[in-house]
Amino acid sequence: MPLTGRTLITAVFGDPVAHSLSPAMHNAAYQALGMDRAYLAFHVKPENLRAAIRAIPAMGLLGVNLTLPHKERVLRMLDGLSGEARSLGAVNCVVNRRDGLYGDNTDARGLESDLREIGVTVARRMVVIAGAGGGAAAAVLAAVRMGASQVLIANRTRSRAMRLARRFAGRAGRIIRVRGLDALTDRGALSAAALVINATSIELNKPRGPGAVRFPELDYEATPRDCFFYDLFYGAEPTQFLERAHIAGRSNSDGAGMLLNQAVLAFRLFNGVAPPVDAMRRALMENLGRATG
Ligand code: NDP
Repeated sequence: MPLTGRTLITAVFGDPVAHSLSPAMHNAAYQALGMDRAYLAFHVKPENLRAAIRAIPAMGLLGVNLTLPHKERVLRMLDGLSGEARSLGAVNCVVNRRDGLYGDNTDARGLESDLREIGVTVARRMVVIAGAGGGAAAAVLAAVRMGASQVLIANRTRSRAMRLARRFAGRAGRIIRVRGLDALTDRGALSAAALVINATSIELNKPRGPGAVRFPELDYEATPRDCFFYDLFYGAEPTQFLERAHIAGRSNSDGAGMLLNQAVLAFRLFNGVAPPVDAMRRALMENLGRATG
């Protein structure tokens, strides 16, 4: 689509941002719908976040996605927040509304709809989440919403996991437990798991090539045969976490579907219309270097 004098803009702010797959997905949707709109990536350093947020209404941007490291800091810079952004303590969508800048978070809904599409059910069962950052918070919310009877957060830094659990104290405090990474080799705990989620950033921070950083030890064989393994990370190749699940004969998926679904929800928020999901999926898979069916 050629840009015109009337082209309206949506965008993502991040540091770094060049790797973002959001422009590919959103622009594919604009093209398929024939909309005179474009989605750009802006490299916004943390010290410039406030100025960049102020520029959204000043420049008439329709809406902006936020990625690392801005999701938490932006909370104090907005005029209103969705209940979900408030409970997660993070914003991944800023919508430029007539009455001000509104922050929402589509990560938990994105994960939940991907798990439902795959056919994963956790009702009245246990979900184990490795990690306690922003992705893990979305995973806790998704697990609670899907009716899990227990959520076990296993994190290297226990105090951070406890902070995350406190966030859900009012809503689901009764069912959330916190452990160190040793929980991942606790046969008793794992024997009740319906779903194990990797929400650590190990893959993201791994050096390229055969890096030294490995996913912590996990006793896959101790999980029930129908236990599902989900990695929030996505890429061209399966992660080590998923490769080992596959070897143990457990069904598994990476986070590409979550990424797609959070983008679909963001597109609706920014543009007020439903996007063509297949066009977005195709653009995502092509950019991940994966064949599309
Ligand atoms: P954060 O930086 O907020 O949290 C990182 C977590 O990983 C922390 O719990 C940290 O533990 C843990 N961790 C990091 N390195 C290690 C290690 N070597 N050993 C054990 N634990 C480690 O990251 P996010 O939550 O934002 O992202 C986590 C992952 O989720 C990333 O891979 C990201 O790409 C993915 N993600 C995917 C999304 C999607 O749409 N598919 C959406 C959001 C995230 P500690 O507290 O001890 O430091």
